[in-house]
Amino acid sequence: MSKEVWSGPILDNHFHLNPNGRNIEAAKDFAKVGGTDLVLVHCPNFSNLPKTKKEYQLSYESTIEQAQKVRDEVNLGMRVILGPHPAAFAHQCIEWKESEGEAGVQKAKDLYRQSIDLAIDFIEEGKAHGLGEIGRPHWEVDEDILQYCNGLLEETLHIAAKKNITVQLHVEGDEKAPYSQIGKMADRVGLSRKNMVRHFAPANVSDELTGGMVPSVILQKGCIETLVASISDCSRGFLLETDYMDDLRRPGAVMGPKTVPKRTQTLFSMGVDEEILYRTHVDLPNELYGPPL
Ligand SMILES: [Zn+2]
Repeated sequence: MSKEVWSGPILDNHFHLNPNGRNIEAAKDFAKVGGTDLVLVHCPNFSNLPKTKKEYQLSYESTIEQAQKVRDEVNLGMRVILGPHPAAFAHQCIEWKESEGEAGVQKAKDLYRQSIDLAIDFIEEGKAHGLGEIGRPHWEVDEDILQYCNGLLEETLHIAAKKNITVQLHVEGDEKAPYSQIGKMADRVGLSRKNMVRHFAPANVSDELTGGMVPSVILQKGCIETLVASISDCSRGFLLETDYMDDLRRPGAVMGPKTVPKRTQTLFSMGVDEEILYRTHVDLPNELYGPPL
């Protein structure tokens, strides 16, 4: 084994698979370049969002089945994250408010709560490992919609605290505001920031910025130096992800499935310690989600 090659486990912390996308082939690509573990995050079909509790159940089940298929056919360690995507709630709330007024808002909120309850049932049955992606829209929405999102998020964090469940957060692009604002929300409801993962996190992983939340870094071009420079100021560790979308209509719109293995090798060749990479790919995921299925 060459000293310059990382031969340990490699985990992508935020990965989607789409039944109509490349699906198992994308997982094979990841494995081909040394990937060993995926955190598969539920993503609803945005052209046909679940409208009832039953439809949410079916769409969660399909994510769980997909994970099983990857386990069986590609032999990757799999963890599953389930929850109502914040964009799904925002779209439905805006649409139903327009057509049904306050009753429409209530309907969207009720569906959100039902979808959280369902996700928790699956987590408690051992079929899923965390709640996500939850949070607030990444684009600008009207103040009332943002308030509904923040209210529901705080409720969800409270439930996660009581049940000791890790959450994956989907938030707006601002570097600091999501860490500080949602961090304060978590403090109010007693959820440890250690159990909160910020998906699509900026490359600066210093505690000063994250406030103790776990950054799941999306290593876009030119970001790797920022990550390496801040690692020594990150006490709990960080994760790596692609947010692979598996959408055939938007190839190349996001990172490909081989990116985390490749970036891990780059980090190793830049001198990042083995212990740090082991924490990223093994120990921290175990602490957050428990062992893979
Ligand atoms: Zn995602």
